[in-house]
This record gives sequence, structure tokens and C-alpha cells, in this order.
Amino acid sequence: MKITLSLIKADIGAVGGHTKPSKKLLEGVKEFIAKKGKGLFVDHRVFFTGDDISLLFSHKRGVEDKKIHKLAFEAFKHGTKIAKSQGLYGAGQDILKDSFSGNVKGMGPAVAEIEFKERENESVIVFTMDKTEPGAFNLPLYLAFADPMYSPGLLLSPPLMKGFTFEIIDTEYLKAEKIVRLNAPEDLYDIAALLRETRRYVIKSIWSREYPKEQAVAVSITRLKHIAGRYVGKDDPVAIVRAQKIFPATEEIGGVFRVAHYVGGDTRGSHNQPLMPVKLNSPASVHYCIPIVQGAAFSIKNGVMTEFVDMFDEPFWEYIREKASLKSILMRDQGFTEPSMLPYDELEYGGIVERLKRLEKRFKIEK
Ligand SMILES: [Mg+2]
Repeated sequence: MKITLSLIKADIGAVGGHTKPSKKLLEGVKEFIAKKGKGLFVDHRVFFTGDDISLLFSHKRGVEDKKIHKLAFEAFKHGTKIAKSQGLYGAGQDILKDSFSGNVKGMGPAVAEIEFKERENESVIVFTMDKTEPGAFNLPLYLAFADPMYSPGLLLSPPLMKGFTFEIIDTEYLKAEKIVRLNAPEDLYDIAALLRETRRYVIKSIWSREYPKEQAVAVSITRLKHIAGRYVGKDDPVAIVRAQKIFPATEEIGGVFRVAHYVGGDTRGSHNQPLMPVKLNSPASVHYCIPIVQGAAFSIKNGVMTEFVDMFDEPFWEYIREKASLKSILMRDQGFTEPSMLPYDELEYGGIVERLKRLEKRFKIEK
């Protein structure tokens, strides 16, 4: 049986700043979906990551299904009303268009979808990030699917030995999807050359080469500023990853997040800070909104999901959170100078642009 997983996430308002959604908002969204989504999906979950609410649906309607997307969009619009009624910060922030046009992609929310024929023991992980951008997935997914230093299955497990195909998007091209397909391991250096440019090139999907119809990964690739034409918040990406057997193991995919690598995002979307793995339903940190990632692993049968395993809720990750905290402080100590603050063309708030324009007039060429 073919099942589709649709993971759709948006920031529609948070309590006292960019922290987390209110209980009333979360409950309102849950109730809306339970009431309006009857018969549309097999199973679903609603949870939050920092100030973003995630909706995860399992269904039999395929990717980019109009009704599923509309349900998510309407749920977020309904939630926006609640957020506004409570005076929540950034109410409706990620809902960039007023009326639904058939696909929630390009309207603000982050979307990752994957359709597959369920394996006998189908293991899935969903990752949700807050205060960062889609390119934040580049390094961890490269390490998990292309680097035997991090992912021993590439050496040890026969179905993984042929490697994986990476679909990489050029997010600067706005008219259509500009995409390149590269194979690991042959094209490893080409893949790395693109993935290092995290603000432009992002992984869209990863596929098995042993079983070319089997998709391992789907990542949301939205860049909100391209939709709105101005800064409206960080993209806060999500990903769906299938694990085990013909794919890397759950612990290989989870393990790479121990790097706590530096990503663009953080407070005012304007800094390089480490990606901290946190527990499910964590608020954003008031230490400058350090970028965070949550991981939920589950099994699925006939579209029915088990309970989530909270991947970063065990003792090992306490140490990684300490490491990420230290990396955060060390970079933060550098204040406004690069690479602590992002380069000019990525500074998301207009103030610095206006300031530099004003200063330009005061420069004089002296001999
Ligand atoms: Mg957010």
C-alpha cells in the first residue's frame, strides 16, 4: 500500500516573543484538524518546535494533494485568529498569502512530503528545525548518506554500498525548480562544493541507488524571503527521513546531529550559531534564539503511526547541548563582527541597509 507523509509547519504566533505557541492556539489547531479533516487522512500528529506548529499527516492521497494542503492552510488561518485574539507575537507570520491557491508550498509554511510503499518494518524520522534555514540540513544529511566516517552502514550494509542520489536545488532561481542530480560516492566533491553554499544550494531529496524508486529523504526548500520579497522570519525547515534496512540506521541519521554545526539563523535571522538538538515540543531559547532541531522517530503500518520516540531526549544529548551552548557563547562573544553576524546580503533586517546607504553619502575621496 502506498502511503504519503505530509509534514507542514508554520509560525502563526508565539507567547511573549518568538518562543512557543500558546496552549489555546495549539488546542485550537488540533480541534480544527480533528473536525475538518475527517476522512481525509489515516493518522496525524500536531506538535511544536520553538514558535512553529507542525502538522504531520499520513494519507493515501499522494504528494501535493490539494485537500491535505488546504486543510493545513485553513488550520493555520484558524490558528492565526486565535493568535491575534490573544495578542501573540508574530500572529500569522508565516501565512504570506490570504487565499488558498491549490498548494500550500509558496504560501509561507514549510512542506516536506514523501510517498512510499510501506516496507514490512517501516521506520521513519521527522526532523523539524526552528530559527534557521533549509541549508541547515545540508551537512547532517551529507554525513548520514555519503560519509562513511559518520555513517558506517555505507561500508557495512550491502543495500547501502552503491550509495545515494542527491537532488540539490538552486534556491536563487525563482521561476521554476532548478535542480541537479548527483550520485554519491562518484560525485562526492561536486556534492560537497554545492552543499557548502548553504544559503543557496539545498538538498531537496535523497534516493537509494540500489532501489532507485525508493526515496529516503524529503526536505522543505522554501525560502520565505523569496515568496514575500522581504524578510518575514527564517524558513525553519523540516525533513522526513526513512531509516533502516536499505537506508542508514536511525542511529546513523540521528548521530550526525552531534556535530551541532554552525548554521545561519538565530536572533533576527542574522547570525551564525550552532544547531542544538532539543527535546520535542521545546520552546525557542532566550539565549538569542539559538537554532534548534527536534527529531521524532516512529514506525508506521497501514498509515497508522506509533507513538514518537523523542530522539534527542536521552542522556547523551545533554552533553551535546552543553557543547552547542559553549559553541554558541564562543561565537556570540564576537558580537557584530563576521562570522558571528551574517554577511551584508543575508542580513534580514532593513536597518543595516539604510544605515550603510546613509553612511555612503558621508564618505569622501581624499588624495
Ligand atoms: Mg520559527
